[in-house]
Amino acid sequence: MRFILSRLPTMTVNNQQFTSEKIYDINYLTANLLTFKVTRPAGFRFKAGQFARLGLCKESNEIIWRAYSLVNPPHADYLEFFAVLIADGEFSQLLQKSQNNEQILLDKQAFGYLTLDRFADGKDLWMLATGTGIAPFISILQDLPVWQQFERINLCYSVRKTADLAYQDIIKNLANWEYIGENAAKLRYLPLTSREKQPIIQQGRITDLLRTDDLEQIMDCELTTDNSRIMICGNPAMVQDSLNILKSKGFRLALTRKPGQIAVENYW
Ligand SMILES: Cc1cc2nc3c(=O)[nH]c(=O)nc-3n(C[C@H](O)[C@H](O)[C@H](O)COP(=O)(O)OP(=O)(O)OC[C@H]3O[C@@H](n4cnc5c(N)ncnc54)[C@H](O)[C@@H]3O)c2cc1C
Repeated sequence: MRFILSRLPTMTVNNQQFTSEKIYDINYLTANLLTFKVTRPAGFRFKAGQFARLGLCKESNEIIWRAYSLVNPPHADYLEFFAVLIADGEFSQLLQKSQNNEQILLDKQAFGYLTLDRFADGKDLWMLATGTGIAPFISILQDLPVWQQFERINLCYSVRKTADLAYQDIIKNLANWEYIGENAAKLRYLPLTSREKQPIIQQGRITDLLRTDDLEQIMDCELTTDNSRIMICGNPAMVQDSLNILKSKGFRLALTRKPGQIAVENYW
């Protein structure tokens, strides 16, 4: 979705589809991974796991729109995002230049189906993420329903290097959140690095562990169509390969009118 607006240098936009917000708390985790917050307009509603559309303005006044998963839980009074800067990426170049308190456009609507309401039942929730694909899972984990709906939550998060692992504080301190408390014991967390050996972090790819059943052994949890519900997010090759492996084990996609065990979000 692209818009050309004539009065954009001041970004005094008044459009029914989006609002003009402020970007703030920009924090770089590495040279190309950053988190940032965006002011939340009163009417903006979303479910944990959904994504927003953000717009930034080029010098030519063209606005570039891109999808970004919401990291914050739905009850937060801000919006948070986790982004990778892609070399030569149109939006990435604009985001890299953004400074705290500058304007950013936000589509009034949130989108996406990587949400818990995809699943009517199930005991174990598996969350499989590569790279920035961890974002929707951080939102879901900070929201109460996932802890009420599932007996076990298995989070597998694969990155290239240890330094790329984001939101470790949140993942490791969920028990300190009053409304999660002892429920946090339901979580098993497996960080994975694909390009770096680290004594405390397992090396490998999610798809390899899934194919060989090693993932079930490491997580001490069996994948079964009766009990397991699986969310997959990030790199489309990982999403497709995981989907193929799981389909060969009898799992299928959960669609609006057809129940299943898998929900996915592809990032490109
Ligand atoms: C539903 C949805 C949710 C998304 N959520 C996020 C998010 O939370 N965080 C985020 O950083 N990006 C997310 N993306 C991707 C994001 O919309 C942009 O594509 C990306 O940030 C780069 O924009 P760009 O204009 O700089 O480059 P683009 O022209 O959009 O992309 C150029 C190339 O960069 C690669 N690429 C794009 N996104 C990623 C990525 N996230 N990780 C690794 N390689 C990538 C692909 O090879 C792509 O072809 C999401 C995409 C979708 C469809």
